[in-house]
Amino acid sequence: MEICVVGTGYVGLVCGVCLAELGNNIVNVDIDEEKIKKLNNGIIPIYEPGLKDLLERNKEEGRVRFTTDFKDAIKKSTVFFIAVGTPPGANHEADLSAVRAVAKAIAENMEDYKVIVNKSTVPVGTAEMVKNIIKENQKQPIDFDVVSNPEFLREGEAVNDFLIPDRIVIGVDSEKAKDIMEEIYKGIARIDRPIMYTDVKSAELIKYASNAMLATRISFMNEISHLCEKAGADVKEVAKGMGLDSRIGPRFLQAGVGYGGSCFPKDVQALAQTMKEHGCDSRIIAAVEEVNYHQKMSLIPKIQKLVPDLKGKTIGVWGLAFKPKTDDMREAPSIVIVEELQRLGAKIKAFDPEAQETAKKIMKNLEYCKDPYETAEGCDALVLVTEWNEFRSLDKDKLKSVMNAPIMIDGRNVYDPKNMAENGFKYIGVGRGHYH
Ligand code: NAD
Repeated sequence: MEICVVGTGYVGLVCGVCLAELGNNIVNVDIDEEKIKKLNNGIIPIYEPGLKDLLERNKEEGRVRFTTDFKDAIKKSTVFFIAVGTPPGANHEADLSAVRAVAKAIAENMEDYKVIVNKSTVPVGTAEMVKNIIKENQKQPIDFDVVSNPEFLREGEAVNDFLIPDRIVIGVDSEKAKDIMEEIYKGIARIDRPIMYTDVKSAELIKYASNAMLATRISFMNEISHLCEKAGADVKEVAKGMGLDSRIGPRFLQAGVGYGGSCFPKDVQALAQTMKEHGCDSRIIAAVEEVNYHQKMSLIPKIQKLVPDLKGKTIGVWGLAFKPKTDDMREAPSIVIVEELQRLGAKIKAFDPEAQETAKKIMKNLEYCKDPYETAEGCDALVLVTEWNEFRSLDKDKLKSVMNAPIMIDGRNVYDPKNMAENGFKYIGVGRGHYH
């Protein structure tokens, strides 16, 4: 059985290569000829730790191939994982045009039974939509099933997340399709990492509700961080104390510069739009997004507190990707922060270990540097935006010797404020009341 994975982005490529690793035969299809050319030449278009080795091995063993020839892939494949982009539309709803195009192409070219699996993040009701598109565009009635199998991988940890997931959610309403999905994933399922079979609509909603919950925790802690700053408490201590409660747990309680990336911002807004379409209020979700918008800007007054007039000053930015271990710049807080600093007249130097090439396409008027210390040279302040490991252990004396002034604004609470102060740094973090 050949499986076709449609889309070779952060999800499609990982999905294709990992399904091959599980012993399946994969054809990975994309409309982006450049991407397919690169992949056929052994070049991975994204930065994702561990993916290169896996890809090389599975390519060598003939379990994965890349093509733009979708028609041929439709003829040869039985199962289709749709992993195309679902970016925000005009009203922040998920733009499903790529999903629709894929469904139509499958319908027009199918000659036998197919299972179409929605892996892209799509609103509740999309499987039904795909079903209707296929029925309407088939040349003659041929049996098929549509399955919802949302993806929960995190960029930077994607390979492990795919191969050792917390859970696999499969929304399916046919025994035949269920058996096929079971066969595909049989190498992954464990007693403590189960496959959860459910109805299609619940599966679709599990993805949005999960992302919205994680985003809510982040916005909640960011809001608490403001009170910590005013009242003299330390949000890291507060988070630690909260996380010790087994009902709450320690994860996703870090205050910072707000969430970004290709998922949380668009998925939170798309869920709000879906709720609206269904006549439901979305007060919590609207607040989560609003808090996040303001949080991205919240570093600016902190920087101004230590560098009151930014005009003509040089600010170093450490980290540009929306989070460490990825080159993904979509909705990265760094974009908003850099733009605002530039608007206020600052000159920006920046360094990111992996996202620099992507960043250059988005942010042009800044000086990109080759390492953290070159970035710090001549700076009136440093701003840590993305907590790459490269920034964790500092040579503070070296930093002080190259900077104009020893000022650090820590958007991720990586450093110990007391230690920074003892080493002669003026320091502001997020929600660290004693050092605000
Ligand atoms: P991406 O933009 O990196 O990749 C999408 C790919 O689909 C691109 O290579 C594009 O060329 C291709 N494509 C678009 N239209 C196509 C078509 N008609 N036929 C074939 N290929 C087509 O996006 P991504 O980050 O991989 O996300 C894909 C989906 O997975 C989205 O719905 C996203 O919300 C969801 N998701 C993403 C992540 C993540 O961390 N990036 C995690 C979980 C779920």
